[in-house]
Amino acid sequence: MKKFSLLLALLMVTQLIFCKSEKKDDSTSAIALLALVNSSSSASSTCTTTFGEGVPDWIKNTFTCVTVTVSGSNYVFKTSSLPTYKSPYWGSTSSLYESNLYVNTSGTNAVNPNLIKSQNITLTIPKDNTTTTAGSVAGGAAGIATNGIVLYNDAAAPGDSLSTEYYTFDDSQGHPTNTGAYHYHVETPVLTNNDSKLVGIALDGYLVFGKKHDTTANPTTGFTLGGSSSSTKCIISGSETSVPTTWAQASNYNANKTAGTARHYHINNGSEVNGILISGKYIGTAGTSL
Ligand SMILES: [Zn+2]
Ligand SMILES: [Zn+2]
Repeated sequence: MKKFSLLLALLMVTQLIFCKSEKKDDSTSAIALLALVNSSSSASSTCTTTFGEGVPDWIKNTFTCVTVTVSGSNYVFKTSSLPTYKSPYWGSTSSLYESNLYVNTSGTNAVNPNLIKSQNITLTIPKDNTTTTAGSVAGGAAGIATNGIVLYNDAAAPGDSLSTEYYTFDDSQGHPTNTGAYHYHVETPVLTNNDSKLVGIALDGYLVFGKKHDTTANPTTGFTLGGSSSSTKCIISGSETSVPTTWAQASNYNANKTAGTARHYHINNGSEVNGILISGKYIGTAGTSL
């Protein structure tokens, strides 16, 4: 209460000073002071989306909450990786706070000690990758979802397993790191639910789709996409197939690619946890995330 009175007095003094001074914008100064007091949260149900020159329609019509530009042979995605929905990880004083975690039947849920913080993540992703080197997926951002949230692989923070961390996911199946970076390891109901929708783009430029290729479940043979030999193409009934045609931007994507559209990821139906996005290996040579 004392603190509040002091703040009020401070605000009044600030207003007085600025009202006396010539053309100082007192309203912004007062807002800035209030923002300092309430600086624990950057929660917002809206976000900013910006596309630079030359960004193709399949990106413009699919991605939100990102800034995408073209730089040489790469797309550059910039994101704060802030969800626009409710989560316990906003903290209990936030307008986007809710207490629920994802409902798991086989374990006890509990939040991790971290809160969501705005990030400054840049993913440089090859525009038209046709390499199939199957390089290992490192920790950190291994891709970006269509809602601007970064995709992580199936490895948990050191000392933990994903099957343990799984019980810390919020009801959108995401959670923040100890530096506040909110991310997904597994299928998020915000984007896909056992279907063929686009989840996002991996750091190697190949696309990540839901568990199905159009209507075909488990479309691949002989490997798990994102597995140990992930350069294999997406195969249905013995034939390789291009990106799901049920994805509204498929024709624009195919028109923009010169080759390799049969190579894409699907969320897997793993047994450890449900729906890992990207596991041990990329399909091709990855770009960078900083
Ligand atoms: Zn994690
Ligand atoms: Zn497929």
